[in-house]
Amino acid sequence: MATPPQSSSSSTSWSSWSASSVKNHEPLLRIGVVGGGIAGLTLAQLLHGTPNVQVTVYERSFEAVDRLCGYRVMLSYFVLQNLQATLRREVWTRVAASIGIQPQGGQELQFMKSSGTQMFTFDNEEMRDSFSVSRWPLRKALLYGYEDFVKFGKVFQRYERLRSNAIKIHFEDRSTDECDLLIGADGAGSRVRRQLIPEARVTETDLAVIYFKIPLTPDTKDLLPTNSASMVFTQKNQNIMVHSWINPRKMWATKFDDFDISNEESFIMFGHGGPVREFINKSKPPTSLSSAELKTEIIARVKADPKIDPKFVALAEHCVLNTSYVHAVRDCQAVKKWDTGSVTLMGDAVFNISTMLGKGANCALLDAVDLAETLRRPDMLNPSKRRIELRKRAEENVKRRMKERQRAALIQNLVYFGDNKLKEFCRDQGLKMAFDWIDDTSSIIPHER
Ligand SMILES: Cc1cc2nc3c(=O)[nH]c(=O)nc-3n(C[C@H](O)[C@H](O)[C@H](O)COP(=O)(O)OP(=O)(O)OC[C@H]3O[C@@H](n4cnc5c(N)ncnc54)[C@H](O)[C@@H]3O)c2cc1C
Repeated sequence: MATPPQSSSSSTSWSSWSASSVKNHEPLLRIGVVGGGIAGLTLAQLLHGTPNVQVTVYERSFEAVDRLCGYRVMLSYFVLQNLQATLRREVWTRVAASIGIQPQGGQELQFMKSSGTQMFTFDNEEMRDSFSVSRWPLRKALLYGYEDFVKFGKVFQRYERLRSNAIKIHFEDRSTDECDLLIGADGAGSRVRRQLIPEARVTETDLAVIYFKIPLTPDTKDLLPTNSASMVFTQKNQNIMVHSWINPRKMWATKFDDFDISNEESFIMFGHGGPVREFINKSKPPTSLSSAELKTEIIARVKADPKIDPKFVALAEHCVLNTSYVHAVRDCQAVKKWDTGSVTLMGDAVFNISTMLGKGANCALLDAVDLAETLRRPDMLNPSKRRIELRKRAEENVKRRMKERQRAALIQNLVYFGDNKLKEFCRDQGLKMAFDWIDDTSSIIPHER
């Protein structure tokens, strides 16, 4: 059992704790986590079974979160290694099963023209050492034993600071709960952040990416430009992103039809990005378009490019209808600090990072590992010590995020720079230089083995 801190070392006495915190005379740190995404669930898993710590995750959704859940996420070797070292064995083995077959020599990002002509390849160590992880089994792994710590269908509304120093959490269903530390892990649209740092704005951009899944079969594999990721520049400042996740237990997909594909099946991720103003179907906002309208949109777009390699048209035609997902690109204002007394933030709830270099989930997972390590310490039962330590974690978290955000924003700005020949030329030259810079600056997330 953890040794409780001496009350003399704290400016806040034990009597200031809420009654339920000291039930049975056992000091208890009650942690409420809003959001059962990658960050929130990982933190809960890491804290599970910690003496004197009780974690509850409040997740608004009942089952699967959204269709993004069926896609893949690129995680670095370093982050995966951290998870292996810190997660319980039964959870890690499940996480490990979500890692797809790695291409020989590692991952790379190949840039090409719509005609299929190769432009250049980003294949530095950072890229090579990243792994395609299927979000669905990853989520299932992180939900292992969830009955003990997740409450589904709980939509966080606001929090209230009580005189006892505890936090009262209010949900949309009018129910409430209490905790000693509230952690906002509720993603880029975080309501916890909105209340904690009201001045932090979230702005919509003019960019949207339409995603579909394509079953990976011997036929569709032949349509892939590379064994790893490719970004194809098409007309009107649009691009196609192609990447796959290969199930290590079953290389070829068999359980699918034109409408659906089972979540365990190997797949190709087909993303079509571009400015919202260039959508062919402008009848409604991109996020309101139906799956059928989105599929019609991407097929029309690829066919509209006179130079398009027919393989990209064939890929668009193979998209499985009910897998559509629209990522409307948003930009959360970067926040630098906040009062970590009894409320803190992690993951995208701090601020998001462009998906261009695939670092958001990596940062969210490292936030979880760092926070868990801190909160496991017995002296974290002491509120003033906790505030100080959590402030340090928040500073590190912001630093990591800022660096990745700058790197990814540079690439995003260049990728969407070209809507005429001159700008396309500048984009192509600029991107090569930007990737050299990215290589030189190197990620704040280590990638050496
Ligand atoms: C298309 C796309 C591709 C990406 N690719 C990569 C990649 O390759 N590599 C990478 O590192 N990152 C990638 N990212 C970013 C990554 O997905 C995010 O950074 C990561 O999911 C953040 O995790 P999180 O737990 O902080 O937030 P989220 O995953 O957004 O989870 C937030 C959770 O909070 C819940 N929630 C929200 N509001 C409430 C509320 N009011 N009450 C209760 N629950 C609530 C949500 O339902 C959700 O479950 C990508 C993102 C997108 C959109």
